[in-house]
Amino acid sequence: MLADAIVEAIRLAVTRIPDDVVSALRKAYEFEESEVARFNLENILKAVEIGRDGSIPVCQDTGTLTFFVRAGVESPYLRGLEGAIVEAARRATREVPLRPNAVDVLNGKNSGDNTGRFVPVVHWELVEGSEIEIAVLPKGGGSENCSALAMLTPGEGWEGVKRFVLERVRECGGKPCPPVILGIGVGGGADLSLSLAKRALLRRVGERNPDGRIAKIEAELLGEVNALGIGPMGMGGKTTALDVKIEVAHRHPASFPVGLVVQCWANRRAFLRIKPDGRVEVWQ
Ligand code: SF4
Repeated sequence: MLADAIVEAIRLAVTRIPDDVVSALRKAYEFEESEVARFNLENILKAVEIGRDGSIPVCQDTGTLTFFVRAGVESPYLRGLEGAIVEAARRATREVPLRPNAVDVLNGKNSGDNTGRFVPVVHWELVEGSEIEIAVLPKGGGSENCSALAMLTPGEGWEGVKRFVLERVRECGGKPCPPVILGIGVGGGADLSLSLAKRALLRRVGERNPDGRIAKIEAELLGEVNALGIGPMGMGGKTTALDVKIEVAHRHPASFPVGLVVQCWANRRAFLRIKPDGRVEVWQ
């Protein structure tokens, strides 16, 4: 039963781009003046439509299946959940279908079913209560390759964060299939900053950090990224990013870690909630 619901959430994520992302892509199409930028956005929007209408993946790279689980410690469904996630990855690979994207790091052998050592990737968080909430984020490899970590000095501060992000986005150009969405984690340690950056991608396009100071930096950085002129698919234009999302954690006084996770236009996500009585809600 659990695996069925998770397969459906995976199917939804890879075949239907969320409404907020589609509406940002449409706005970008209206906003662009260059023929090439409009042409690229038109093709992206066609792929979105074909995926939705045909219930087929919007991109051939269906990504690495990544889950963020907020597990209520009193949920009767906690036991067996990890097994259900792995089973769902296997079944979704056959049934949706997904491209098998998990290979052995030593011999490059593909497991064939999107499972392997630490794959699917599951981030666990134990919370009070008896509900379980799972976010599914199938993460494309091309955009992931542009993700990066910077261990800045505290003196470099937020100006350093901007410099690092802008340099990395410029360096990557069209590789991550722009327009991108940038997830940025600042603070914590090297590992936490990257994990926060990936989690930030679960927020809706346009949804700002509730802390007004961070929200202001998100908006400024979005403007600066778009001023780079990389444009849709890296062929020039005014829309390099649809949004910038920043999450923060307290940091060590001597460290200023910045994790950057780059997400492509195929910003796929879905959520499911398992109620204590077994009812399941799935949404984007
Ligand atoms: S980066 Fe994204 S859009 Fe480009 S090929 Fe990979 S999954 Fe597809």
